[in-house]
Amino acid sequence: MRTSTALRGTLTLASAAMLALGLTLPAAASTTDPSDEETASLQRALRSGRPLLGWTIALDPGHNGGNSADPAAINQLVSDGRGDLKPCNTVGTATASGYAEHEFNFDVAERLTTHLERLGATVVLTREDDESVGPCVDIRGRFAVDADADLMISIHANGSLNTTTEGYFAIVADPAISESQGEPSLSLADDLLGALADGGFTPSTAVEDALSLRSDLATLNFARRPAVMLELGEMRNPDDAALMESEEGRQAYADAIAAGILTWTEDNEPRD
Ligand SMILES: [Zn+2]
Repeated sequence: MRTSTALRGTLTLASAAMLALGLTLPAAASTTDPSDEETASLQRALRSGRPLLGWTIALDPGHNGGNSADPAAINQLVSDGRGDLKPCNTVGTATASGYAEHEFNFDVAERLTTHLERLGATVVLTREDDESVGPCVDIRGRFAVDADADLMISIHANGSLNTTTEGYFAIVADPAISESQGEPSLSLADDLLGALADGGFTPSTAVEDALSLRSDLATLNFARRPAVMLELGEMRNPDDAALMESEEGRQAYADAIAAGILTWTEDNEPRD
């Protein structure tokens, strides 16, 4: 009995949402089965609260907590995706007080996962914990296709030695060696940068227009889906470090990234 009451409540809510959104179709426009139109309208109404339904989003929290204890594994050479070799992975950077980049990246990715799932997305991560080793950068890059994701965001923080350098920037593979690395990745980067600016974060004081085009990052080179690496801030800069070390700061980073993804998905379609 509780189930049927709940179901009636859901349907009433859905009907109210349809009315509020003006989704009922005029009878005169009907050339197909009205019940199909009703189903489509209902689906649109239900989706209105979960705009990322149908999207699979890959998140790549950079580095890993176990990397520093296994140099042999992370120093093995792997393909960079353009014919050269580079180390499997690195240990990443840290703030002056010792807060590690891998921990920051993983925490933001977890917060972002929660946010995106609430919006209806399916979220897949290149690593499931912050204590393991790797995966290597070529595996991270291939992950977007292997996990059948529609897009991928690699989450990092930068470690410029100059402590006055601050702010976020995005990195896109360039020159493009796949369709996904051209306009799709650039427009995704643009929407993410816009959302970080809207979130009140400081754009990089070292990278022009907060956009870096690079040919040497295997994670981006191997990606065959729209992919952007975000350097969310400078860990050695005191202001950025204070933000990264605070839960509020990390939540704000995650919320801004979610907003950027949402903007990009409004102009694009998920793969079937
Ligand atoms: Zn990093």
